[in-house]
Amino acid sequence: MHLFCDVALAVPLDMVFTYAIPPGMEPVVGGRVLVPFRQQRLSGIVVELHDRPPQVKTKKVIEALDLSPVLDEQLLKLGKWISDYYLAPIGEVFRTMLPLSAEFKRSIAYRITDEGRMALHLAGMSGSPARSKRTPEQQLVEFRVLDYLAERESGREESLRGATGVAKALLAGMVRKKWIAREDVSAARDAARLAKVAALVGAEERAKASPPETGQAPSLQRDVAPALNGRGACPSTTTSKKLNENQRTLIEALAAFGGRARVETLRELDVPRTTLSTLVRRGLIELVDEPQGFTASKLKPRQSFDFELSAAQKEAFHNISEAVASRKFAGLLLHGITGSGKTAVYLACMREVLEQGRSSILLVPEIGLTPAVAADLHQVFGDEVAILHSGLSDAERAEQWHRIRRGEARVVAGTRSAVFAPVSDLALIIVDEEQDSSYKQEETPRYHARDVAVMRAKMAEAVVVLGSATPSLESYYNAKKNKYALIELPDRVEKRPLPEVEIVDMRQEFQETGQEQVISRKLAEEIRERLEKKEQVMVLLNRRGYSPVVLCRACGRTLQCKNCAVSMTHHKREHKMECHYCGHVEHIPEKCAHCGSEYVYFVGTGSEKLEELLHGMFPQARIGRLDRDTVRGREDFEHALNALNEGALDMLVGTQMIAKGHDIHGVTLVGVIGADMALGLPDFRAAERTFQLLTQVAGRAGRGQSPGTVVLQTYFQEHYAVQFAARHDFAGFYEKELQFRAWMHYPPYNAIANVLIRSEKLDDALTWSGELGRWFEKTRHEGIRVLGPAAAPITRLKRDYRYHFILKSASREKMNALLRAMLAEAAARKIPRTQVIVDVDAVWLM
Ligand SMILES: [Zn+2]
Ligand SMILES: [Zn+2]
Repeated sequence: MHLFCDVALAVPLDMVFTYAIPPGMEPVVGGRVLVPFRQQRLSGIVVELHDRPPQVKTKKVIEALDLSPVLDEQLLKLGKWISDYYLAPIGEVFRTMLPLSAEFKRSIAYRITDEGRMALHLAGMSGSPARSKRTPEQQLVEFRVLDYLAERESGREESLRGATGVAKALLAGMVRKKWIAREDVSAARDAARLAKVAALVGAEERAKASPPETGQAPSLQRDVAPALNGRGACPSTTTSKKLNENQRTLIEALAAFGGRARVETLRELDVPRTTLSTLVRRGLIELVDEPQGFTASKLKPRQSFDFELSAAQKEAFHNISEAVASRKFAGLLLHGITGSGKTAVYLACMREVLEQGRSSILLVPEIGLTPAVAADLHQVFGDEVAILHSGLSDAERAEQWHRIRRGEARVVAGTRSAVFAPVSDLALIIVDEEQDSSYKQEETPRYHARDVAVMRAKMAEAVVVLGSATPSLESYYNAKKNKYALIELPDRVEKRPLPEVEIVDMRQEFQETGQEQVISRKLAEEIRERLEKKEQVMVLLNRRGYSPVVLCRACGRTLQCKNCAVSMTHHKREHKMECHYCGHVEHIPEKCAHCGSEYVYFVGTGSEKLEELLHGMFPQARIGRLDRDTVRGREDFEHALNALNEGALDMLVGTQMIAKGHDIHGVTLVGVIGADMALGLPDFRAAERTFQLLTQVAGRAGRGQSPGTVVLQTYFQEHYAVQFAARHDFAGFYEKELQFRAWMHYPPYNAIANVLIRSEKLDDALTWSGELGRWFEKTRHEGIRVLGPAAAPITRLKRDYRYHFILKSASREKMNALLRAMLAEAAARKIPRTQVIVDVDAVWLM
């Protein structure tokens, strides 16, 4: 038995806190405890049990919440590594790793015991329990509590106290007398988290018995008739004739959903509420409680995975599978060009791992986990797959987490935080599109899920596969250095050719036409040609809104956000000005706010204006738009793509969203407008990002039978990112870019960190960054370059004034030691920890 425990609390302080363990309480390392902390009760993770009395007087643990660890030894170790590597407070790291915030808001419930029932029974007979120390009023309240609980399985403390007026002390006394039992209502057991689902009776058995048919939703004829006839045991010998119109509508809808749907969903149908209950009574539909997991997709899977792999895919599969069999850590970089079939390789590997009874995790970028991908996964892995994404509520996330931990789901797919899934016997982690910036968390802890995946695989002696058509420079460099084995998928499936890329020099276009063009003559002509041939077109403009700048012709000022030092963007359809950084919205100005002039102009083109321009040029074409204004959730995203896939659209316009790995066969032309905008940003990754975006979007063309063409409009024709992307020359780009990084001491040759000092008060931001600047100057830091303090490229963001330092070093250990010392100095100077942001391996330097 230990006397003390060290607890990591989710507060912005770089330390753990020591608490005394009351006699009889047995907290566990990796389990949660409830502790007092500055007038609050917080739950935290126990990181150590010990007998070393601390210097100061300790408070006592209030309650041990877990009997066994919620973070196993390996995840605890991983959390400590993250805290150390990214200089993040350990408690905040654990909070990120555990999606159990729903449970942190614990609630207490009470249940009546057999003794309690007996007491209630006796009280009912004699009027009052014998020999009680309580006052008559208290006895009456006790009676009310027992009466209340006798009618239900359990009652939450709040409702119980509300209904009976019972005091806490009295409740505690009743628990001691064993009349009632106290229990935690953890979110996992919370009935509110179950969804009522309606199911056609008998539909499931038939689905299992008969082979699935081409992924189509079951038709009414096939499905409902047997549902009615198959109900032989039903005494009322129902036939379809007896269904009224409302009942038929409801059953048809249910059949169209594949035989199961949430009651909530069915409520949207235009039938009276009683219809459902009538059908339930007649035994045609049953209601079941189901955990609110990922809503099964209503969309048909894109293709069936029969694992007919090509020779190159097979080789990749064997390489990965051998590495898995060795049960040692291995890192593999799967470089497969766009359209080469990486997903089939992933699924084959994961299926093999599952057959061996081991676990795998598939990480996908934020937008990558569409309902169609989820449907594919469900098709291959059935109930063995748990899907984690940002659209889940806290409670749904917690439910998935518990399923994984109980070992019910050994295949996990999800975005960034799925890397922390509590699987056991981890064999394989796959990071799809490993270069995607959505893997980097832009709040504390600022971890990169790809790098955490590599570390977790190392700790678990597992295999990590980083997949991409355009690997990050870091990963490619590691492969060149033989830290990762490189697997190539050099060809598209069925040997389809890569699209031809034609560069249009927009400076020349300007000279020849005498005006600034959005769409060049070449692109316009190509579009017209495709539309005539009934082929499809995608046009990328990586900037949403109508016009990005509002300019006053009289005084030359632009309309800036009041919270950020950036221009407000004009959104025409929604009649507003919006800041794309903080979301601030304003009316469209009629006059200049500075000089009152009426000569305000809207300058530049965003995706909304591009769509309008194309409508004007091609009035017959059916044009859709895909950007953050038109896409609110994954379903919108998928609907737009489906519309294109099914030929309901001729053209899709959008931001980088259209560039992500979807597979639309009808697209033969991709137009790229202003793809080089990023090249003008003060960010050393600008060339890499541009190359990746161009390669990705070009990869959307010619994935079907007809070959594709890309028209790339640029003002930076000579830039190597543009040139190499046009030639599909991956290796060429990487050699050139690596040279640049080496000269400039940037990653992958050096580690970098961005230290941001921010405050709503300009004075504070200036003073603090000045103090830390002087401290850096007089502190020895051999082998570490410190640049700054300087105003950040975006000098004000979300009301904060921002100054920053950039640190570069060949030695990560030295750099982190200096950063740690800097944080200690900042703490000593009473600079709030939340105003000093340390971003190790920063991907966003603005
Ligand atoms: Zn003005
Ligand atoms: Zn703003």
